[in-house]
Amino acid sequence: MKKDTDNRKRYALVTGASRGIGRAIAIRLAGMGYCPIINYHTNEEAAHQTLASVRQTGMEGELLAFDVADGPATNSALTTWMETHPDGVIEVVVNNAGIRRDGLMLWMADSDWYDVLRTNLDGFFHVTQPLLKEMLVRKYGRIINIVSLSGIKGLPGQTNYAAAKGGVIAATRALAQEVAKKGVTVNAVAPGFIRTDMTGDLDEATLRKSIPAGRFGEPQEVADLVAFLASENASYITGEVISINGGIY
Ligand code: NAP
Repeated sequence: MKKDTDNRKRYALVTGASRGIGRAIAIRLAGMGYCPIINYHTNEEAAHQTLASVRQTGMEGELLAFDVADGPATNSALTTWMETHPDGVIEVVVNNAGIRRDGLMLWMADSDWYDVLRTNLDGFFHVTQPLLKEMLVRKYGRIINIVSLSGIKGLPGQTNYAAAKGGVIAATRALAQEVAKKGVTVNAVAPGFIRTDMTGDLDEATLRKSIPAGRFGEPQEVADLVAFLASENASYITGEVISINGGIY
C-alpha cells in the first residue's frame, strides 16, 4: 500500500470475485487493509457471500456487477465508480474473471472462440485501461493478471483459452515496460489445476498423477501469491509470469 498523505481510501478491484480464486484474493487483500471491490457477472448471491467473508476480516467491501467482456458496460461501471468515490482510489487491480469453453478446434463453435477471447483477453483491456491514468498520476499501482498454465504451454482442447491467456501474458510484459518508471508493476500469475467450480468437471484422481505435488491447489494458495505481488515488497518485480502449479513443467 502506498504511503502518502492524500488520505484517500485504498481499494483493490478483483474481477470475478464472487467465487473461486477471485473470492480468495478479495478476502486476502482485505486482510492487507484494502477495501475490495468485488466484481461479478451474474451470481449476486455468491458475491454477497464473498462480501460476508471480507467483513469477517474487519474490512468493508463493495459489490460491483459488470460483464468484463462488454467494453462500454465495463467502462461505464468503472467511470461511475470513480466519479462517486472522489475520496477513494483503486490502487490494485486483479484481472481474474475468466471462463473456459473447451473443445477440439476442429469442432469449435464460433461462439466458444469469441466468448473466451472476449472475457479473458478483451476483459483485461476493458478493465485495466480506464484505471491506468490514476495509477500513473499517483506513481503507484499494482496490476495482476490471472492467466494459466495453458497460456504458457498450450493444452489440447483449449486453443481458445490458451490463445486468450497467452495474449494476456504478452500484454502483461508489454504494459509492464510502458509503466515501470511510474511505480506501476504489471505481473501475471499462472495457476495449474486449482480446486474451484471451473475445475469441478475434471477427473482430479487421474489428473493429480501428472502433478508432482500430487494434488490440486487451493484458491487460498493463489491468493497468497497475489497478495505478495500486490504488496510494496514486490516493487522490483514486473513483467513476470509466476507459475503456481505444484511443479508441472
Ligand atoms: P470460477 O470458479 O469459475 O469463477 C469464475 C469467476 O469469474 C466468477 O466470479 C464469475 O462470476 C466471474 N466471471 C466469469 N465471466 C465473467 C464476466 N464476463 N464478467 C465478470 N465476471 C465474470 O473460476 P476460477 O477457477 O476461480 O478461475 C479464476 C481465474 O483463474 C480465471 O481467469 C481462470 O481462467 C484462472 N485459472 C483457473 C484455474 C483453475 O484450475 N481453477 C487454472 C488456471 C487459471 P459469476 O459468479 O457472476 O459467474
